[in-house]
Amino acid sequence: MNPIPEPSVIVMIGASGSGKSTLTRTWPADYRLELDSYRWAVSGDAGDQEATADAASLLDAVLERRLARGLTCVVDATNTRTDVRKRLIEAAHAHHLPAAAVVMTTPLEQCLARNARRPDNRRVPEGEVRRQYQQIAAARPGLRGEGFEHVVTDDRLMRLRLLLQRTVDRLHADQRTDADHVERARRVLANQFFGEDLAAAFTWTQLRPGHDPIGEIAAGGDRLTLAYRTGFPDPMDWGFEAEVPCLGGCSGPAWVPVRTPMDLLAVYDDDFPEHVVRCERCTAGTSVREAV
Ligand SMILES: [Zn+2]
Repeated sequence: MNPIPEPSVIVMIGASGSGKSTLTRTWPADYRLELDSYRWAVSGDAGDQEATADAASLLDAVLERRLARGLTCVVDATNTRTDVRKRLIEAAHAHHLPAAAVVMTTPLEQCLARNARRPDNRRVPEGEVRRQYQQIAAARPGLRGEGFEHVVTDDRLMRLRLLLQRTVDRLHADQRTDADHVERARRVLANQFFGEDLAAAFTWTQLRPGHDPIGEIAAGGDRLTLAYRTGFPDPMDWGFEAEVPCLGGCSGPAWVPVRTPMDLLAVYDDDFPEHVVRCERCTAGTSVREAV
């Protein structure tokens, strides 16, 4: 059951470390207006407090344009200040939409502990967390009076099923639109070794029965050719090799094991140890250094 109607403006209210962002992520990505993300967008640093004013103006602009389209917004910020909440309520009402407050009930000790575990640039001073917590406790009884049509606490929101269902729906949609399941499964492989950005630039170029699959990572006019080797007895040794010119000077492709993005960078920069190179033609199975 979701006690908050949509479309609406959903205002998260909680101290730093109260778990607002985790709960906010149960709504679709486009609903989520996160002050930290806009800080990051304008300054490159999600924790840059000096970027707050610029970030807030971006948030307001996106809020306004979404509400003009009648779309739900979930505002993920501490929202401890009365004037900030007032602005959000007015924006909702200007578009004839209800405003809902979601109040986090996480105990102060837990907020403090979570805040303390954050990276330096995302951690707020302990006194600030206590102050936010007290401000929210003081504001809570008056939220309806401020103009919120709905006031709910986080423990009343049963969002896990929605999150699971949306994830399952997305998986099904992906499977329907992705004709080549093998390609998809093997992109997962590239992702595991090299991360999301490089996997996005990766495609399989040669999938032949009885041969190791070959693919490439390409960006602009640059490319690295990779083969996935599964011939080793221990599956833990399976992995990619990158194609390099044979150091022995023959025309055959030679290969260097690449297990990490650091290995790929070394191949691109021609900065790998010669003894790891294996040529298919002139020195198959032995190192070039031994052969030369
Ligand atoms: Zn060779």
